[in-house]
Amino acid sequence: MSDIKEKVKQLVRTEVQALHAYGVADPGDLIKLDAMENPYPWPEHIKSLWLERLKLVDVNRYPDPVARNLKTRLREAMAIPSSQALLLGNGSDELIQMILLALAKPGAKVMAPVPTFVMYEMTARFCGMEFVGVPLNDEDFSLDLDAMISAIKLHDPAVIFLAYPNNPTGNLFNLADIECVINAANGLVVVDEAYHAFAGQTFMDRLMDFENVVVMRTVSKLGLAGLRLGVLVGPEAWLAEFDKVRLPYNINSLTQASVEFALANRVFLDEQTAAIQEQRTRLLREMSAIAGIHVWSSDANFILFRVESASATKLFDALRAAGILVKNLDKSGGVLQGCLRVTVGTPEENGVFLSQLEKLLKQIA
Ligand SMILES: *Cc1c(COP(=O)(O)O)cnc(C)c1O
Repeated sequence: MSDIKEKVKQLVRTEVQALHAYGVADPGDLIKLDAMENPYPWPEHIKSLWLERLKLVDVNRYPDPVARNLKTRLREAMAIPSSQALLLGNGSDELIQMILLALAKPGAKVMAPVPTFVMYEMTARFCGMEFVGVPLNDEDFSLDLDAMISAIKLHDPAVIFLAYPNNPTGNLFNLADIECVINAANGLVVVDEAYHAFAGQTFMDRLMDFENVVVMRTVSKLGLAGLRLGVLVGPEAWLAEFDKVRLPYNINSLTQASVEFALANRVFLDEQTAAIQEQRTRLLREMSAIAGIHVWSSDANFILFRVESASATKLFDALRAAGILVKNLDKSGGVLQGCLRVTVGTPEENGVFLSQLEKLLKQIA
């Protein structure tokens, strides 16, 4: 082994060496239905107004360190109760990291029902924390409440993540089940509402009923993925501690100005969300009529399906060769074996996807 490899191996923490970097597929010219993005660009007149707004930003100066104007706008746009504090992250990914950095005492554990968003486990690992995954019920991906409660008793996690709706399964957990988990937990419960725009359900208005709950939102899935902004809402006592591990100026000036602008003009985003919800209904209806796959309902902007008549990886490769990129979850194993996840696209993109799906399933069966 060369000296440099030896040195790296000697110095880098074992848990970091054991990780794989978060993989992102290169979409090239493919129809991109893999990452839960909003498929619609901004209308031209909105883009012009936005560029006018950006002219007022002085990038020679540091950003507003507390993003005051943006926070005011977010409070209004997300109906954030005035009793709750607000903390911003460079995407909700960064908020997950801040929470775990603050809670990573020796022996502290992170828990989540699985399968779920992979960054909970990955971030736990690189913060040196143990991750405990509790399997969801296999049929409908609901919370296995008995298993959750026993795991909470056994492991006493410092934090539990509940994605509401869950990724990659697309469902909302039962509210009464969530409350049981919160009441059983000694630690913090993070309700991750990344897909709130498509679900029409929220825990935001329940925050004042609990002392150990925070709600996390992001503007990514809503249509602003490129701006990287996540929002954490909850009791000041928790957020004041998480704020201490936040790097200064983590929300850059262009993001602050752009999200503020987008929310002030959000009618177009609401229209796009409505179009995505309508297309989700169409995809669910038409995919359910295709033989050889099992489709789960969804409260988010993506649909999970299992390929029953062929290999999922073969279908994934065939779709890719036909110009369509979806997410292959087959390798994740467990309940996700044989599963692919498709993000809801434009009507045209969904049309191409549906016709190719039906055709390719027949070809590879
Ligand atoms: C996509 C996703 C996120 C990450 O969102 P960013 O704000 O883009 O970092 C967080 N939670 C869940 C459940 C997600 O699916």
